[in-house]
Amino acid sequence: MLPYGKQCVDEEDIAAVVEVLRSDYLTTGPAVDLFEEAFAAVAGTRHAVAVANGTAALHAIMAALEIGPGDEVIVPAMTFAASANCVLYQGGTPVFVDVEPDTLLLDAAAAEAAITPRTKAIVAVDYAGQPCDYDALHALATRHNLALIADACHALGATYKGRPVGSLALMSAFSLHPVKPITSGEGGVITTDDAGLARRLRIFRNHGITTDHRQREQRGAHYYEMCTLGYNYRLSDIHAALGRAQLTKLADFTSRRQAIAAHYNKAFAKHPIVQPLTMRPDRTCSYHLYMVQLQTEHLQTNRNTIFNALRQQGIGANVHYIPVHLHPYYRNHQNTRPGQCPIAEAAYQRLLTLPLFPTMSDINADNVTHTLKKLTGSYR
Ligand SMILES: *Cc1c(COP(=O)(O)O)cnc(C)c1O
Repeated sequence: MLPYGKQCVDEEDIAAVVEVLRSDYLTTGPAVDLFEEAFAAVAGTRHAVAVANGTAALHAIMAALEIGPGDEVIVPAMTFAASANCVLYQGGTPVFVDVEPDTLLLDAAAAEAAITPRTKAIVAVDYAGQPCDYDALHALATRHNLALIADACHALGATYKGRPVGSLALMSAFSLHPVKPITSGEGGVITTDDAGLARRLRIFRNHGITTDHRQREQRGAHYYEMCTLGYNYRLSDIHAALGRAQLTKLADFTSRRQAIAAHYNKAFAKHPIVQPLTMRPDRTCSYHLYMVQLQTEHLQTNRNTIFNALRQQGIGANVHYIPVHLHPYYRNHQNTRPGQCPIAEAAYQRLLTLPLFPTMSDINADNVTHTLKKLTGSYR
């Protein structure tokens, strides 16, 4: 089965991890500092804070913003549940907003219409790896005095008007899960230019304690204080070493992903049924995922038939995502309902994620395009 996504780990990555295993620090050591420095350089920000996973990164952001009960945070409906769950962790209310029909990115006008006196922040999700319209969202956030946050878990390596993702919002969250642009096994990062926020994020990832064990060791002191309620969201040095080794290959990974996506785009250009997502000309996409929307009105069958048939032929298609407000938890506990975000809901019925990862061959990609064209042709 050709999977929809897959990590690329080489001997250099393995050697970096082994080096840490032979060193004095397995966690909260120098490998974390080095990874954070390298990540901040790639994102073009002053600070990068490494945490246990992308969800922890989003949770830490909500805590740093002091989101709490009564506060509303705007989240696009078309995303992974973690983009909204982080608001619930803090007792806040995610408010689901619809997406643009061609890019499936947060619709700035719909976001503006959803703002109330309780709104505190907007989570922009760089769906598939294409950055949102940050100029429009910044203008909106400024007008209404909101914090603009990026869930950039898909988008490491992408750019908006020449600027790297990570530097486009007040704080940006990244995931280092194996299917994401680079991996540390599990891991996450928050980037920001704000020193005060970076300090809060570091305290939050370490139980709310204001110093870490290395700082105390260096001072020869035992005393520490827990001043806020935090979590153990630290990233280990083992993970950080893998993340840093992977980061050196990000540019190569990204260009290979973009080449495969270009191959797909060309194969599906003007196709009556298989419609790739629209890419805006002022941005580059990291292509964490490659999605198409099937024009099911021209098909004698539905997306699920095509999905199953692809899998039967060894092509590990997937679907990203079930709109978050349709999940039973949200319907039962947040009173969300179908019909709330009609564009995301309609897109969900048509979406298909095709295999895309850097070590995939052109022959693999041709096999995907031929199989999908043949299949959709047979159901016309
Ligand atoms: C992967 C992902 C997350 C969560 O990241 P984890 O590292 O798996 O916790 C959050 N938001 C989006 C959009 C993601 O794709």
